[in-house]
Amino acid sequence: MISVHTDAQGFIICRMHEAFLSAPSEVLRALRSYLLTRRKGFWEPVAEFAQAITPAPPREVKETRVGRVYDLGRLREAVNAEWFDSTLDVRISWGRNPKRRLGKRNTSIAFGSYTKATNLIRIHPRLDDSEVPEAFVRFVIYHEMLHVKIPPHRENGRWIYHSPAFRKAEKRFPEFSRMEQIATRILDRL
Ligand SMILES: [Zn+2]
Repeated sequence: MISVHTDAQGFIICRMHEAFLSAPSEVLRALRSYLLTRRKGFWEPVAEFAQAITPAPPREVKETRVGRVYDLGRLREAVNAEWFDSTLDVRISWGRNPKRRLGKRNTSIAFGSYTKATNLIRIHPRLDDSEVPEAFVRFVIYHEMLHVKIPPHRENGRWIYHSPAFRKAEKRFPEFSRMEQIATRILDRL
């Protein structure tokens, strides 16, 4: 909540939580006295105030589901119903940063991601394009939902995300090889 150090030029650098903006004047006076004298007695009221600051709750991750072309909420419900008996409870959003290019010859992982900590699937915003077939967007969602259904496991100290069971389930998607072709085509173009 507050830190004090002296830089190479001898300047005192004091960083503090924004709650100090509304700190009582005796706390700020004590801080000033501490910085000038470095006497412990002045630090106590400052430390006390710092300890009472409640850290801000982590920022809620915003979900942006309705794109220009595709509504991810609708597609998630469809994929959930068709492949998971509507049993998966997962959030979904278009990813940010549409300017970042997908890596050349990337794998399908670049089209989407799943973060367990926030229970959120993110879909690459480049897929929100009428030239991208809806079936392919569904396929990417299906892939990420499989990560919810089939969590990664550790094997010889490594995390396995795409186990043989995962790959087998993934291939059940209709026209799987066409999906792979579309993936390659999109990756070449983006
Ligand atoms: Zn994956």
